[in-house]
Amino acid sequence: MSESSSAASRDQGDNRTCYCELIANHFTATTPLNGGRRFYKCRHYETNGCHFWEWRDEELPPHVSMFIHKQKLSLNALRQERNNLRKMVDDMVGGKAADVNNVSLEEKVSNLEQKLKRWKRLATWSWILFAIFVAGRMM
Ligand SMILES: [Zn+2]
Repeated sequence: MSESSSAASRDQGDNRTCYCELIANHFTATTPLNGGRRFYKCRHYETNGCHFWEWRDEELPPHVSMFIHKQKLSLNALRQERNNLRKMVDDMVGGKAADVNNVSLEEKVSNLEQKLKRWKRLATWSWILFAIFVAGRMM
């Protein structure tokens, strides 16, 4: 027997069967009084008139629930701030800046090599013309 199947059968023991003979879904409360506390609820709770609903975890001390709730609120605020900053960066980097970043290093090196070749050719021709000029003066 594999580890995953034994884990599944252990989970089976944690399941609850609701009044309509279905395995109830698991949820985690997010309210200030029960933040993080897990519970079972029938998947047809709202529609089928099966009002199976049961706590899975023991009641948490109020200060712990409130702490979890506050942590969740500040996590949401941080996520919102992160998304806003991400959007600002996308707006700033968008357009031309993004294109510059897409130019590969090989392309940049190749462009610089082309420029260097042009300068070397120009320098060589300058020396040849200078030599011809000086030789013409000496004759
Ligand atoms: Zn049910």
